[in-house]
Amino acid sequence: MIKNKSDEQIIQKFPYRCPYCDEVVSYEEMDLKLGENEIVCPSCKRSYIKIVDPSSTEGHLRRYRK
Ligand SMILES: [Zn+2]
Repeated sequence: MIKNKSDEQIIQKFPYRCPYCDEVVSYEEMDLKLGENEIVCPSCKRSYIKIVDPSSTEGHLRRYRK
């Protein structure tokens, strides 16, 4: 059994959807910080708060550190 594939899988920023219009919002270009981030939906221009949980970004920080 070869299980290499799952080990190499990078923790992806899974897509989030706007709570108002249900459009997928890409956080790629946004500079998210830990804690509360005010996000303005590109589709409906309404803003909401996204909480960034330190545990969910850990994989990311690790990648940058290297
Ligand atoms: Zn929206």
